[in-house]
Amino acid sequence: MNITLSGKRILVTGGNSGLGAAIARAFAAAGADVAINYLDDLASAEAVQNAFPTDAARSLALSADVSNADAVKSMFAELDQAFGGIDVLVNNAGIDGVRATTWEGDIEDWTRVIDVNLRGAYICAREALARMTAQRSGVVINISSVHELIPWSGYGAYTASKAGLSMMAKTMAQEAAPFGVRVLCIAPGAIATPINADVRDDADTNRDLLQKIPMGRIGRAEEIANMAVVLASDVASYLTGATVFIDGGMSNYPEFAHGG
Ligand code: BGC
Repeated sequence: MNITLSGKRILVTGGNSGLGAAIARAFAAAGADVAINYLDDLASAEAVQNAFPTDAARSLALSADVSNADAVKSMFAELDQAFGGIDVLVNNAGIDGVRATTWEGDIEDWTRVIDVNLRGAYICAREALARMTAQRSGVVINISSVHELIPWSGYGAYTASKAGLSMMAKTMAQEAAPFGVRVLCIAPGAIATPINADVRDDADTNRDLLQKIPMGRIGRAEEIANMAVVLASDVASYLTGATVFIDGGMSNYPEFAHGG
């Protein structure tokens, strides 16, 4: 199957690093016009653009804090100017916060994680869905996590934000389906990106992490990015409201592989 997204206009939030960068690259390789949103590191967004295939279509780097409604409005206005609209939004920007139990953690830290991961995704989807429902086509893909399902001690805000993303996507999918617009989540497991570099770099924590993955290995960013392209394409034309787990089996109750 050869997926071509030429003529499709994509915005990837947090497209300047980690999963976002891989997703931006995969869409560019599929022939789409790709806008990379970044918070404040223009050089990293440009580096992603520079690594696009030489025959890639149009690309843009757009700065905005996704939790800032005015900044997001301006970003979409720039996108309208440059690309004339949007066909696919990938809500990827996210942070995991400072590890602490819910009762010891800082309220400010909680708020920031929810603001970026959930409120930011909402604000961006709100802009995108207004355009997509009007044009009667489009796809919103939210990058959630296995932690939309699996609790994770020390990351109460992160898990709550990801579970929230899942239900927000289902509700948006219900609202937008009559307009020919699909809304989905991808739930990655442990993928090699900067967000978990500290865990992977330490032999003990890395071993512990691998024990939680039936396939016995950390995922590659491309394994998420390629699926984002598939889900955005007409190959997935009848799929909406779903979360697709891409996690090497992490969410598949691995402790029940033996005994019980
Ligand atoms: C987190 C990673 C973690 C993975 C599995 C992801 O949502 O960002 O840091 O390794 O979940 O626990």
